[in-house]
Amino acid sequence: MHRYFTIEELTELCECFSYLHKPKETITHFLYDSRMVFNPAQSLFIAIKTPKNDGHKFIASLYEKNVRNFLVEDKEWIQQFPDSNFIVVKNSLKAIQEMAGNHRNKFNIPIIAITGSNGKTIVKEWLYQLLFSDYKISRSPKSFNSQLGVPISLLQINNEHQLAIIETGISKPNEMELLSNIIKPTHVIFTNIGNAHLANFEDRQHIAHEKSKLATDTKVIFYPKDCNVLHQLLNGQTNVELHSWSSKQKAKLMVNKIVKKHQRTIISAIYKDAFIEIEIPFSDDAAIENAITCWNVLLSLNIENEKIKERMNLLQPVSMRLQSREGINNSTIIHDYYNADLEALAIAIQFLNNQTSHPSKTLILGDIADSETNQELLSNQIAEMINLSSVSKFIGIGKQTSLLKEKINTEKKLFFLDVEECLKNLSPDNFWNETILIKGSRNLKLEHVANFLESKKHDTVLDINLESIVNNLNYFKSKIPAGTKLMVMVKAFSYGSGVHEIAQVLQFNNVDYLAVAYSDEGVQLRQKGILLPIMVMNPSEDSFESLIRYNLEPEIYSFKLLNAFTQALKHHLPFNKKFNVHIKLNTGMNRLGFDEADIVKLGNYIFQNRQLNLVSVFSHLAAGESPEHYDFTVMQIERFKRMCNELKEETQKDFLMHILNTGGIQLHKDAVFNMVRLGIGLYGISPLEEEKKNLSLVGTLRTKINQIRWVEPPETVGYGRSGVLHEKTKIATIPIGYADGFSRKFGNGNAYVSVKGKKAFTIGNICMDMTMINVTNIDAEEGDEVIVFGEEPTVEYLAGKAQTIPYEILAMISQRIKRNFIEGF
Ligand SMILES: *Cc1c(COP(=O)(O)O)cnc(C)c1O
Repeated sequence: MHRYFTIEELTELCECFSYLHKPKETITHFLYDSRMVFNPAQSLFIAIKTPKNDGHKFIASLYEKNVRNFLVEDKEWIQQFPDSNFIVVKNSLKAIQEMAGNHRNKFNIPIIAITGSNGKTIVKEWLYQLLFSDYKISRSPKSFNSQLGVPISLLQINNEHQLAIIETGISKPNEMELLSNIIKPTHVIFTNIGNAHLANFEDRQHIAHEKSKLATDTKVIFYPKDCNVLHQLLNGQTNVELHSWSSKQKAKLMVNKIVKKHQRTIISAIYKDAFIEIEIPFSDDAAIENAITCWNVLLSLNIENEKIKERMNLLQPVSMRLQSREGINNSTIIHDYYNADLEALAIAIQFLNNQTSHPSKTLILGDIADSETNQELLSNQIAEMINLSSVSKFIGIGKQTSLLKEKINTEKKLFFLDVEECLKNLSPDNFWNETILIKGSRNLKLEHVANFLESKKHDTVLDINLESIVNNLNYFKSKIPAGTKLMVMVKAFSYGSGVHEIAQVLQFNNVDYLAVAYSDEGVQLRQKGILLPIMVMNPSEDSFESLIRYNLEPEIYSFKLLNAFTQALKHHLPFNKKFNVHIKLNTGMNRLGFDEADIVKLGNYIFQNRQLNLVSVFSHLAAGESPEHYDFTVMQIERFKRMCNELKEETQKDFLMHILNTGGIQLHKDAVFNMVRLGIGLYGISPLEEEKKNLSLVGTLRTKINQIRWVEPPETVGYGRSGVLHEKTKIATIPIGYADGFSRKFGNGNAYVSVKGKKAFTIGNICMDMTMINVTNIDAEEGDEVIVFGEEPTVEYLAGKAQTIPYEILAMISQRIKRNFIEGF
């Protein structure tokens, strides 16, 4: 947001050929993902070729969306779009890096670069929180730390900045030299070197060596001395100021005491022979380490101890997440816990723009803290962002936002002095079927507004990590040959994970097809703005009309259904129009589908009924995931091929063929045909043990302890007195029962849940809405969080205990449990 270049200026920053229709066009945005268009007229699209994709493919559609500035690798585009600006280079990624390097060279300010295995983004954000009252700071947006992210971060620096903080990350050897060359950091911070992201490296030593290249020409280095691999690499360096810290040995900043108390920590240390101390509002080890890293930097910048203490005390959690929840009157609430500054606001508004679930969008904005202290200028920038967005209703809270009154042109606007006044004046009737983004500084207490807008308050929540969904999707994409289409199963509320929320993520990530079980599920998706082709696997005859109206494509598995649907088309579709249908073949599952003996008749029928557009023919495996039934699966595949060939001959048509589900993709890669149908794998569950490590956790079911009591024998716990005690026992009651999908089979100590990372077994029978657990050896209090499943215990564990499969555990989670969608970035 703070960067302003003319396109002409950019051409001067790298070696290129340029064709500039309007050389004075301003560029405020670097666009690299064609789905993230925000301010098209002032964006430069960077068309990058990767082994998997080619950004040039998106130029035409971006032009449609009013993008007029392009960085490309091919001159031919100029003829096609002569009213645009083109910068033509050999390699777009290299060019943007070159631009960034040359741009950086214009500034003589401290540039702090951060690297390490963990904590980079937190340290960056905390340094910003700790230093923004002393310096005008430019910092990397989100966790932009890659070969592309670093250049984009550097290009944000402008004349007003007094300090830049740049995050760096590498995924392969030899990437760091390049980043180091363009950043030329004056200061380098190493957070730590762990085993994370080892994939392309030999070992920790190797990673440390590669990362240390960031500091090749720097003047000042901060690092944890207890990290041996780093210490060995850095220790011998001359001509640099080494600021080490340690809690075990002598170091510049020597931490000698860490006392944790009620989610707070007091850290004492010796620095330059003096005792110093800070207190932070966190108590986890990662936060403590990150805070010490920041402390070390602040000390070297000669910030007074009193100021450091004051600011450390006010550190705010950095969450890289947006959470969306069900709101009142069919709304969705997006609460953004990320910092509230201009850049973060831009990211959140962009996210809001991309939502399709509701027709209208609302922004509730509180005051934000930005290093831009000129309030007039700041409000102009905020107004510009809002005016370019799809927000139609604006609610401003605070003095700063009141400056926006005359500047924004949303359909509706309301302004309040504070949260209290806002809550007094709003009623639930003001909100109806809309997506509401809530954003602002933490000290405003905007969570009260969020609470007011949330629909049901329930302590039991299923967290769905949408980022994991995308990771799993990409993992399966990488397993199938390029060009193979992907149909994703979102039946049964996406295996219990949500309805349109998952579909929206899949749509955004360009899957080819969705499949649901029933017509209503498809209708619901259409009403929430899902435009992807949708196959309905169990269409009932009485739903044909809405199927046709909503352009949902039926699976046809019998002659009865085929006849009925053909008749319905005659009634509801113009005679010269065709409608997509999918034919299901039975190859051995013996559930639904046409048999081999039906093919000739089926083929003839389709050939004669011209309104039927046969898009795909498919079958389902009975035991695709099972090595034990490998030969049977191969037989099914052979039969499928034979039947398809016959059908092709009879219909004289070509169609898509697909038979593999998740387990099939894992074991029978050679049978992908033109499409695969991904199900449970997307939700992070692998039928195969050895695949588990490649998938990311999607669902975490959590609740809170309602009540705790000590009970002594001969007292018993729960219905039927089956919770028999042997000693004095600490019993916690949690609000989840078999009506929520927590099976009675988990009762009487058969399964455990986690409290404070420890196992708490059930005791007595599971009730309809509640369960009692044994927390005798756990330092648990009422209100503490309980993990029912997630990282530990896993869905697979519970499935084993109930003698069922993970599918059933997921599908049984009741709709009354609120789904909480977490978007990482
Ligand atoms: C549910 C289903 C799938 C997906 O199966 P997973 O084992 O979850 O991958 C594929 N095809 C059909 C026809 C299905 O009903």
